[in-house]
Amino acid sequence: MRVFVASLATETNTFSPIPTDRSSFLSAFYAPPGAHPPTPTLCSAVFPVLRDRARRDGFTLIEGTATWAEPGGLVQRETFESLRDEILAQLRAALPVNAIVLGLHGAMVAQGEDDCEGDLIARARAIAGPDTVIGATFDPHSHLTPKRVENLDILNAFLEFPHTDFVARAEQAVDLVLRAARREIRPVISTFDCRMIDVLPTSQQPMRGFVDRLRALEGQDRILSASIIHGFLAGDVPELGTRIAIVTDNAPERGKRLARETGNALFAMRGTTSMPKLGIGPALVRAAGAAATAGAPVVLADIWDNPGGGVAGDGTLILDAMMKAGMDDIAVGTIWDPIAVMFCLAAGEGARIALRFGGKSGPGAGEPIDADVIVRRVVAEAWQSFGASRVPLGASAVVRPAGTHIDIILNTNRTQAFDPDIFAGMDIDIAAKRYLLVKSTNHFHAAFKPIAAEILYVDAGTHYPSDPRRTRYRNLTRAIWPRHEDPHGAET
Ligand SMILES: [Zn+2]
Repeated sequence: MRVFVASLATETNTFSPIPTDRSSFLSAFYAPPGAHPPTPTLCSAVFPVLRDRARRDGFTLIEGTATWAEPGGLVQRETFESLRDEILAQLRAALPVNAIVLGLHGAMVAQGEDDCEGDLIARARAIAGPDTVIGATFDPHSHLTPKRVENLDILNAFLEFPHTDFVARAEQAVDLVLRAARREIRPVISTFDCRMIDVLPTSQQPMRGFVDRLRALEGQDRILSASIIHGFLAGDVPELGTRIAIVTDNAPERGKRLARETGNALFAMRGTTSMPKLGIGPALVRAAGAAATAGAPVVLADIWDNPGGGVAGDGTLILDAMMKAGMDDIAVGTIWDPIAVMFCLAAGEGARIALRFGGKSGPGAGEPIDADVIVRRVVAEAWQSFGASRVPLGASAVVRPAGTHIDIILNTNRTQAFDPDIFAGMDIDIAAKRYLLVKSTNHFHAAFKPIAAEILYVDAGTHYPSDPRRTRYRNLTRAIWPRHEDPHGAET
């Protein structure tokens, strides 16, 4: 048995001002064949999983390229095509193969190509032929297109948000692909369009129980895998929206029925699933009240200025409001500002400089902050954990406005905050802080909850875009909630 594996992933915010090119992939994560690290990344966990299975089961694994760009704006057409063709050439050279496993995100959009993953999968299918088993893992914040469903045998998305199960879902996908390649199962994918878009965190009810119940169905009644594609509301493509995908062992009627039932149940929960969000003013009042009695830091999450959603992550609105309110003992992780980091590196640790930082990438996320700062720390290659994976921050600096105890991490590799070790890695002692201000919608939650007195989700009113009612979609043409109250009855 011969199995080919590759990973090509990013999440494209088609409204983002930050173009994505080859250097975006090279600087975030790029592993040519054989060079994938032993640790998994969010979308390439199939690599270490397959290596392990190849050793145990004794098949031949042929590794292609694995690469990931931090979410950003449209991918340059040439970048997408060259990375796609690099992987397809590796596949051609690997033939014949019994199976192909692709670690995808599923929300990549290139200039002139709305469905990058569908294009890659369809070309892989054309090269490998109809008898090769093709399986892929997806992030649920993705788009599910007919092209993908037609050309895949196995489709498995992370069920958890935060995506704490990305390794487990890769293991499940790989196991199903291997069983299909051995003709032990005949996978069929059934889907349902929920005609909605919402935020669906599993760190709280009602999604917690919903996902637990769905997962309990897997492995029974010929149901091999159940996925909820949440959709990605910052990706303006025709298929934007929530969909259910059920993979059965050749039981398409059962799969279709379960997809419809699951989808209708999720639709009935619309509007009730999101985290409780506060505007900046109420959030600061609540934070100050909680910090007065807490023995641990209060975590404020800037949920929409989240580089993980493709924006810059250089917004200053919440920090500026906290400073103006006289709040102190704050650690900020992070503000993306390569220029300011360059200045800090040149000034050196201990230097006191007049620094302008943040608020540079575009309108809507606040003005730059000008302050006399002490450069507390500079690190050439900072990083943080995300579960078992290591996420690079790039060259980074900690600056402290003079006369305060506010420590701000400035970084060069855009990334959301995943783990409190983002602070420890820069020698910031969070036990001494009242407030931790992080940029992340919900991925931070798993690792920050144990150390937080309270977690506040702050909607700073930035331009992510976060309100699908108001977003000017041009490619989304079918009716979906909440843009339409009754999308299932609406004309399309
Ligand atoms: Zn996601």
